[in-house]
Parts: sequence; C-alpha cells; structure tokens
Amino acid sequence: MERTQVAIIGGGPAGMLLSHMLHLDGIDSVVLERQPRDHVLKRIRAGVLEHGTVKLLRDVGLGERMAREGHAHDGTWIAWEDREPFLIDTKRHTGKQMWSFGQTAITEELYRVRARDGGRLIDDAGQVVLHELTGDRPWIGFEKDGAAQRLECEFVAGCDGFHGVSRGSLPGELLRTFERAYPFGWLGVMSETPPLGDIMYAQHRRGFALASQRNAMLSRYYIQCDLATKLEDWPDDRFWEELKRRFPPDIARKIVTGPSIEKSIAPLRSFVAEPMSYGRLFLAGDSAHIVPPTGAKGLNLAVSDVFYLHRGLVAQIRRNDGRYLERYSETALRRVWGAERLSWQLTKLLHVFPDDDDFTRRVNLNEFDHLQASAAAQAALAEQYVGLPFEDLAANP
Ligand SMILES: Cc1cc2nc3c(=O)[nH]c(=O)nc-3n(C[C@H](O)[C@H](O)[C@H](O)COP(=O)(O)OP(=O)(O)OC[C@H]3O[C@@H](n4cnc5c(N)ncnc54)[C@H](O)[C@@H]3O)c2cc1C
Repeated sequence: MERTQVAIIGGGPAGMLLSHMLHLDGIDSVVLERQPRDHVLKRIRAGVLEHGTVKLLRDVGLGERMAREGHAHDGTWIAWEDREPFLIDTKRHTGKQMWSFGQTAITEELYRVRARDGGRLIDDAGQVVLHELTGDRPWIGFEKDGAAQRLECEFVAGCDGFHGVSRGSLPGELLRTFERAYPFGWLGVMSETPPLGDIMYAQHRRGFALASQRNAMLSRYYIQCDLATKLEDWPDDRFWEELKRRFPPDIARKIVTGPSIEKSIAPLRSFVAEPMSYGRLFLAGDSAHIVPPTGAKGLNLAVSDVFYLHRGLVAQIRRNDGRYLERYSETALRRVWGAERLSWQLTKLLHVFPDDDDFTRRVNLNEFDHLQASAAAQAALAEQYVGLPFEDLAANP
C-alpha cells in the first residue's frame, strides 16, 4: 500500500503539470498512468498555446526550451477562398501573442522535471478503480505487474483523458453530458520541413485546411476529411497535392513538402461533462471536455483547469481554505464553455458540412466579410482566441 496527498490519474499534460505544480508548493502526489512511458512521450497532438498557457509554463520553470524551440505569433491567418487573407490579430487587439510549441515537447519537459525532483509516477498501471470518493480517505485500486495495489490519498485528480475511468466514477444521476459530433475529421501530417512563417487556416469549397508548426524544422498540416477516410489511401504525394489546392496559390507555392514522419486521422467532437467534481474527486482536462481542434483550445483548457485545481488544492491543504475547491467546477466550466463556443463557431465557419446549402454559404461569407470590416468583431475574436484570463474568486464572489 502507498500513501500520498493527491492521487493523480493520468500522466498526460494535465496530470503531470498538476503534479509538478503541487511539488513546487510542497504537496506530495503520485501519478498513475495506464500506458508505458514511451507511448506517452511519443504521442503527437497539440501545438498552439494561448498567452496564459505560455505565462504559466514560464512561471513554473518550464519556459527555457519553449523559448529556444517555440515561436511567438501575432495571431493566426484565415485564407478564405476568393477573398484577401485575414489575420486574427491578437497582438494588435489584446497586446498578447500566441505560441507554437509542441505538446510532445511539453510532455517531455514535464517528465524530465518530475524525474529530476523525485516525482512518483507509476506507469503501465492497469485496472484503475476509484473508491470512497465522498469520504475523508479516498483510495485507488490498481494493478502493477500483475499484482493488486492500493494507493491511499486525501484528494483525487482525474486527469485521464476522454477514455479514462475518472468521469465514469461520478454517479450517473449527478453527471450531465453535452455533446456534438461533427460529420468529418482531420487528416494530419507531420513533416521535418521548415513551416510557413505563419499559422494559417484555409477555408475552401474542397474543405478546410490548416498549416501549423511545432518548431523551426517541424511542420504540422491538416486537411478536413470524411469520417470513412483510410490512411492507406493517402500517400504523401496525394496529401500535399490536396493541401495545396485548398490554400491560395501564392501561399501554396511557399509550402515546403517532404516525407511525413507521422500521419493520423482525428474525428472532431465537442463534449462537456458537468459537474467537474464529486466529493474529493476533481476532473481536469480531456477527462471532462473535448473541443474540435479548430480553436486550438484542448491543451490550453487542460492547463487552465490545472491552474484552478492547483490553486484550490493548495488553499485547502496548506491553509484549510476550501473556498476555491468548492467553486472549482463552476469556475473551470465558465472557461470551458467559452472555449467550446469559440471552437464550435470557428468549426462551423471554416469547414464544409455535407448538408451546407447556399444559405449557409452566404451566411458564412457574410460573417467573414464582417470580420474583415469590423474592428469590434476582430477584437472580440482576438480576445477569445488568445485565451481569456484566469479568473480570480473576487470576480465572482
Ligand atoms: C490531432 C489533435 C490535435 C490537437 N491540437 C490541439 C491544439 O492545437 N491546441 C490545443 O490546445 N489542443 C489540441 N489538441 C487537444 C490536446 O491534445 C488535448 O486536449 C490534451 O492532450 C489534453 O491533455 P490531458 O492531460 O487532459 O489528456 P491526455 O493527453 O489524453 O492524457 C490523459 C492520460 O491519461 C491516461 N489514462 C487514460 N485512461 C487511464 C486510466 N484508466 N488509468 C490511468 N491512466 C489513464 C492516458 O494514457 C493519457 O496519458 C489536439 C488533439 C488532437 C488529438
């Protein structure tokens, strides 16, 4: 049997960041991760960071590699077929920049600092079950190397992603879920080629495309695809050709192609589970919500959840002040719904839906023209895109 103050289920970015931040405040945690470490460290996912995420990572000592390998952006471009490209200018409207820096690198950094600081992580942990969440002493049962184990704790952080066990540990009569599945996915390619200077969305009658990046020699490109798409039908040449058809010709010419080092298909989904807490269990990150990647919000929401949860746990454990933990779910959900709304809005605006008719196309075009013409609309979008500030309790006493 092991004991800790906070048992963290899931060693993705949410779980590892929480563990690191708790350590900085002298609070002990144990992370239980279902997968082997190699698997977690190889996963390729997000790469666009909000201003607040960048600041928080710097504040907790994780800024050095990001400064070296990441790249600041004044915003993201939208290349709209037959229109002038438009910049969601976060620098101009909010004074803040976005950053491109890969989730894979952030996860590597988190594993490095937790190992350096003697953090306890049990990987390859199977059959995780959460017990006695409404009592003073919750505990986690799990299997390691075929043997049953028990981890006792004061609090449980459910950071085990969309397919984890934590969300399902809330009683059915308490849990409410809200969901929207989209009738398409993103086919993504990673290549060791110099990226376009800017992050750029493309709206096109053939479907959405995105040019993104992780570092100076790592590019990430996506195209909207049918849900039935098979990877074997998309050799690199076909992917590059289709990608370039969706960007304006002068931009397509600048795209440097090369062999893919990773290729995958991700379905798009919006999902929120409420509440994000039950007894001594607190959900954070993808275990409680999923956004379509269009708004680049998923990883950023995981970080803001961790900001709120860390603040609540420190106040409770260090000062016996329960105000923040009691309000954790409602505070986190306000930001979650803001990101859900923006991600849904951008997805609707930029993708081709199978049932789109001329009316929808005209409305979307008008929304884009309004953005081009209205400083107020630009400022509203830029404010949400760069990320709303983390809330203090004083704002909603
Ligand atoms: C293709 C793609 C592109 C994306 N692009 C962006 C982007 O540009 N910007 C952005 O902000 N976000 C993006 N996201 C979303 C982002 O990657 C996620 O929101 C982020 O990984 C959430 O972190 P997390 O720690 O909450 O969950 P995860 O990263 O899913 O980590 C959860 C961990 O829990 C473990 N686990 C699961 N079940 C159990 C269990 N039963 N017991 C123990 N451990 C368990 C898993 O193995 C995993 O390691 C993208 C996602 C995808 C798929």
